Amino acid sequence: MATRAKALYIVLLGGPGAGKGTQAELLSKALGIPQVSTGDLFRENLKDETELGLLAKGYMERGELVPDSITIAMVRERLARPDCEAGAILDGFPRTVAQAEALEALLTELGSRLKVVPYIKVSEEVLLSRLAGRWTCRNCGAMYHQLFSPPRQPGVCDKCGGELYQRADDTPETQRHRIQVYFEQTAPLIDYYREKGLLVEVDGQRSISEVQAELLRIIADDRRR
Ligand code: ADP
Ligand code: ADP
Ligand code: ZN
Repeated sequence: MATRAKALYIVLLGGPGAGKGTQAELLSKALGIPQVSTGDLFRENLKDETELGLLAKGYMERGELVPDSITIAMVRERLARPDCEAGAILDGFPRTVAQAEALEALLTELGSRLKVVPYIKVSEEVLLSRLAGRWTCRNCGAMYHQLFSPPRQPGVCDKCGGELYQRADDTPETQRHRIQVYFEQTAPLIDYYREKGLLVEVDGQRSISEVQAELLRIIADDRRR
């Protein structure tokens, strides 16, 4: 396997609705490395009715985390693919300390390591308002918000003309539960990565383009090191 010593692996941390998916897609285009979203991977498997999709279904519907062993195996397979040789933007993974430890071991195996972990910081209230207005393109996965980032034509994707939908797990009840799960299981990763010297806090309560500019600056700074 080619060495990945120069590859750029980045984890985006933040609560549900913080803007990880939105920013990861933009970063992926700007940097020319793939976005690896565990939520998207699970949703693809669900759509294709694979064994993995069936395993994940109930957890996703309840707004709970899919068990670590299943999630880690899926990410391991994804990162081993050749398109991740130059790096990847990880969005929605890791979400537990066990996942973070598994990622570290996997990157070491691949001859690489994490370069930086931007934490997109957003208040709980704003998380809820973001999730409540989120619309996604059924065809290309592009993200919209009915108030903050509306499509030109309601219900239609600007990029591909596809149909926009609201995710089944974006009901008020599941949203609140996902935020609770985030505080219990994922928020500990903020200190975990801070202690490793990888964490950089980003104020996520600014416009999509301002957040993007800051992320690109952080990544560029890091690369110079
Ligand atoms: P959001 O964008 O609202 O944060 P995601 O699309 O990242 O949500 O994830 C949707 C669901 O997929 C989660 O609620 C969870 O059930 C499952 N999931 C995604 N990533 C992980 C992960 N790293 N570990 C466990 N479950 C995950
Ligand atoms: P996550 O992947 O962290 O769950 P998303 O990228 O799906 O978050 O964003 C959640 C919702 O908030 C989407 O509707 C998106 O259009 C919107 N959004 C993302 N970033 C911002 C921002 N900086 N300002 C306003 N709305 C945003
Ligand atoms: Zn689209």
